[in-house]
Amino acid sequence: MAEITLKSLAHTYLTDPQSPEDYAIREMNHVWHQGGAYALLGPSGCGKSTLLNIISGLLEPSSGEVLFDGEVVNALPPEARNIAQVFQFPVIYDTMTVYDNLAFPLRNVRTPEVRVRERVMEVADVLELTAQLKRKAKNLTADEKQKVSMGRGLVREDVSAILFDEPLTVIDPQLKWKLRRKLKEIHQRFEITMVYVTHDQLEASTFADKIAVMYEGQVVQFGTPRELFEKPNHTFVGYFIGSPGMNFLEVTTRDGRVMAGDTRLTVGNNVHDAVANARSSNIKLGIRPEFIEVHAEPVESGMEARVEHAQDLGTYSIVYLKLGNISLKARIEEDQKTPSGKAWLRFPDDRIGLYVDEFRVEIDHE
Ligand code: ADP
Ligand code: MG
Repeated sequence: MAEITLKSLAHTYLTDPQSPEDYAIREMNHVWHQGGAYALLGPSGCGKSTLLNIISGLLEPSSGEVLFDGEVVNALPPEARNIAQVFQFPVIYDTMTVYDNLAFPLRNVRTPEVRVRERVMEVADVLELTAQLKRKAKNLTADEKQKVSMGRGLVREDVSAILFDEPLTVIDPQLKWKLRRKLKEIHQRFEITMVYVTHDQLEASTFADKIAVMYEGQVVQFGTPRELFEKPNHTFVGYFIGSPGMNFLEVTTRDGRVMAGDTRLTVGNNVHDAVANARSSNIKLGIRPEFIEVHAEPVESGMEARVEHAQDLGTYSIVYLKLGNISLKARIEEDQKTPSGKAWLRFPDDRIGLYVDEFRVEIDHE
């Protein structure tokens, strides 16, 4: 088992890269601690598979180092890295039985057959494959094949880490939920470092203690699901995490006030000062739908908005609003009155995030 450190790591698939956009991994430093349950979350094409393949040794990075427990492993081939990797689509031997497929990684490292049997039975039990052990892999359903593929990743106890690359994509939703829980159980039992790649925030937060959010070849935030929700470090995290995502308003200051276009925002002096002092003209005010106060009647320092429509989602509603010509979404709970026509909004100061050139900056709350 190991701690995995990525040091000044970068990767491009091009022979003559010209700009940061030419890199699938832009220079990054990152540590996956021993025993952690991690998710690597990001949209398609952001570099998740590239990163996993560099860690497992399938791909050699253009620059930088990969270290396991402080030792550089760049020169080690995948077999020598002692890492199990589970891919999006099943990687199994069709002509072998399920038993032999599961036994393969253990026999490969010359595990005694008695122990092979114990482990295969244990993993088959966890994945509910016991009844299939004698069948040839080619006769299995797509779901079953992927379970075997996962089993092959889980069967060795001596691996440094297990990397999962969107392993549940081909699995039906019911089973997906169950397998994710199993993985979590297995993690708790064996305390193996696990990195689970997904583009689904729900999947990430149910599996992982800590999530690395990846965007355009960079880890833009590494935090608990709660930190990502409450303090997104980058506009992309605000937008990607949450349902719906964070509202962003482009802001400036004019005559001592914070303006979003021609609309004056009622916010505290500290927010004003932070906007006024920002060293870029790309400034956005972020506020989550959950944190916008929506009043059906005028309130002190309430900003008058137009209610476009409300979407009732059972225990809460999403209200679509126009503040001047800015579109906003607010979430209100079922015990709260849904406004119609007009609404008065407040942005609590401590719920506002300020983003300069897309990254969050601190606001002085004195
Ligand atoms: P993800 O797994 O997050 O969807 P990938 O790591 O597969 O992202 O891809 C990151 C970027 O690298 C994408 O722009 C993709 O098109 C590119 N890419 C991935 N694999 C290759 C390859 N073998 N050759 C060239 N470009 C690639
Ligand atoms: Mg991928």
